Amino acid sequence: MSTPENAPVIGKDALERPVKDLSVIPWWGVKRTEIEWYPTIDHDKCAGCGLCFVTCGRRVFDFDKELSKPIVKYKYNCLVGCQTCSNICPTNAITFPDPSEMKKLVAKHNVVKKSFEIISPIIECKQNLPEEETQSDFNK
Ligand code: SF4
Ligand code: SF4
Repeated sequence: MSTPENAPVIGKDALERPVKDLSVIPWWGVKRTEIEWYPTIDHDKCAGCGLCFVTCGRRVFDFDKELSKPIVKYKYNCLVGCQTCSNICPTNAITFPDPSEMKKLVAKHNVVKKSFEIISPIIECKQNLPEEETQSDFNK
């Protein structure tokens, strides 16, 4: 099974940091490349501070030296659901799809049920969970 630890190294970024291909790691059984969740940078708003590039541990960004701004180079390296770079960008130059898209994905792929199954050994759950408690939209 592919994990961040054993994902293949595919190059280096502008700071000479190794870049892994994290797109090979599925998200709850779904191919990562089938999920359109990744940042978009508005270069007109971007100040070129590099905070997103330096901060993202998944090497989604590289830094274009000619442009003097980051670019989204490995979009499927982005952690599905993460928006850290958008939250810390000082100029609000980074956007993501609407979070409601994440809720739809969670429901479509039974992610809540899968999560309950994983944690069942460590929660007070001596019997199989009732079906209604494993529905992805139970808390809507
Ligand atoms: S954090 Fe925002 S302003 Fe800074 S480089 Fe990234 S996109 Fe540009
Ligand atoms: S959302 Fe998270 S994983 Fe994705 S590019 Fe931003 S900081 Fe990196």
